[in-house]
Amino acid sequence: MHRTHTCGELRISHTGQQVTLSGWVQRSRDKGSMLWIDLRDRYGITQLFFAESDTHPQLMELARSAGREYVLKATGQVIERVSKNPQIPTGDIEIKVEKLEVLNASQTPPFTIEDQSDGGDDLRMQWRYLDLRRNPLRNNLMLRHRIGIETRKYLDSLGFLEVETPYLIKSTPEGARDFVVPSRMNPGQFYALPQSPQTFKQILMVAGYDRYYQIVRCFRDEDLRADRQPEFTQIDCEMAFVEQEDILNTFEGMVRHLFKTVKGIELDTVPRMTYDEAMRRFGCDKPDLRFGMEFQDLTAAMQGKGFGVFDQAQVVLGIVVPGCAGYTRKQLDELTEWVKRPQIGAKGLVYALCQPDGSFKSSVDKFYSPDQWKAIAGQATAAPGDLMLILSGDDLSTRRQLSELRLLMGSRLGLRAPENFKPLWVVDFPLVEWNEEAQRWFAMHHPFTAPKPEHFSYLGTDPGLARANAYDFVLNGVEIGGGSIRIHDRTIQSQMFALLGFTPEEAKKQFGFLLNAFEYGAPPHGGIAFGFDRLCALFGGQESIRDFIAFPKNNSGRDMMIDAPSTLDQHQLTELNIALTNPS
Ligand code: ASP
Repeated sequence: MHRTHTCGELRISHTGQQVTLSGWVQRSRDKGSMLWIDLRDRYGITQLFFAESDTHPQLMELARSAGREYVLKATGQVIERVSKNPQIPTGDIEIKVEKLEVLNASQTPPFTIEDQSDGGDDLRMQWRYLDLRRNPLRNNLMLRHRIGIETRKYLDSLGFLEVETPYLIKSTPEGARDFVVPSRMNPGQFYALPQSPQTFKQILMVAGYDRYYQIVRCFRDEDLRADRQPEFTQIDCEMAFVEQEDILNTFEGMVRHLFKTVKGIELDTVPRMTYDEAMRRFGCDKPDLRFGMEFQDLTAAMQGKGFGVFDQAQVVLGIVVPGCAGYTRKQLDELTEWVKRPQIGAKGLVYALCQPDGSFKSSVDKFYSPDQWKAIAGQATAAPGDLMLILSGDDLSTRRQLSELRLLMGSRLGLRAPENFKPLWVVDFPLVEWNEEAQRWFAMHHPFTAPKPEHFSYLGTDPGLARANAYDFVLNGVEIGGGSIRIHDRTIQSQMFALLGFTPEEAKKQFGFLLNAFEYGAPPHGGIAFGFDRLCALFGGQESIRDFIAFPKNNSGRDMMIDAPSTLDQHQLTELNIALTNPS
């Protein structure tokens, strides 16, 4: 028998029992006549104890030879510890070892297997099995498991059916590039890996499976950002015979269930905000509601006073940063440099310090009199002691820039605590957005999203005005879910494809199966998908999803452990009918 208990199980009540434990050496302490080894497994750490006075010299020597990460099997008696460790649940006891077996030796790991590791990202990913032995990673995977189980429980209780959809499919237009897989049996043809099961879940609705879900892997060949993985997991859902309200309620219920069961938090009713309002008040479609600093439109108040930059701008927008009137010139210069970085792209930053004595000090003092400042501050509801930060330019860019600045100031002021959860539904998204470069309309969500019935007429006249029954679930400034009510009428779907620049032939070639399905009794339907990895990261109080995925890829899309992607040998390429123009 390899073990009678795990390394996290024994308590003072087990004192006197004969036990066998197996695990890895976390660390050992050799005091000459006495030796301790911390033995670790998935469940915890138990201390092994060896005393020279009553241990066979050979056993003592074996214990001494066991280095970090050796796999040991130890048998002995549970005894009460002299100096207890209140930090760990097994801290009251130790095992007085009578028999020891080295099950396997280990090389010295390239980084320390402690809560705070000294390993860099790529190193940790290369030796992921060692990284996964660390508590933080293990806790993350356990959290992920729990969220998955609770998701299934909730959806199952409402009659949702988990149905698997294929991975080898045809391109789905979710807005990113597809990963493709060559078909050996069909030379010159390729499968695409799903960016989401979107079309399949809609077809399931036509098939009558009116409540579907799947915790499913999706693939998108996008340039990677810190919080993106080429393969990621969604909680993908679809319902038939529903309206937007039914979906919002069902999935608000799901998030509430997860918060309650996984985190012990009772969530309030989730507020709602239209896309237009979110853009107006926060300059972005996923506002972080943990703090205020709402946008103040100062265009009218600040134009026409001789300051050319503002006079020529489409908008002048500001935020009021509470209590920061004491910012030094150096701090303000640093903020100015920050907004001027290419990632933000502002041309400059105007500031006004609202002094405690009621006076103002700004970077554009010569254009605005003290009285004018008073009026501007009054409009922006800036109080003495506050700092006003003002940007100008075209509407969309200025909002985006100021939104970034708002988030920065929120972080700097410590207003974005990870354990303070502020959810939000953003609703009424535009149906389409104009792409200057491509000179055509693109679906804001995806081409299957229905315009609001009262906005149908805009499709032919002014598509930019059309709003959709599309919604995002936002948590602490992160979009964790998004979906829409779908088009279930063939004519409207064809109209939508036409608006997006598909010829009838192209639409038929790519989506003929869906258009056909719509001829056979498609029910009204809609759905949503939640980013499972992100949800896990947020529940775990972290920004990056990487440590909530057992085997993630690095920023260049590489799996550092198995070293993928890699080249194929000539034989495989020939079989797949692939001729490389530039073989490496
Ligand atoms: N398929 C969509 C996505 O992946 C979600 C949905 O509309 O249900 O974003």
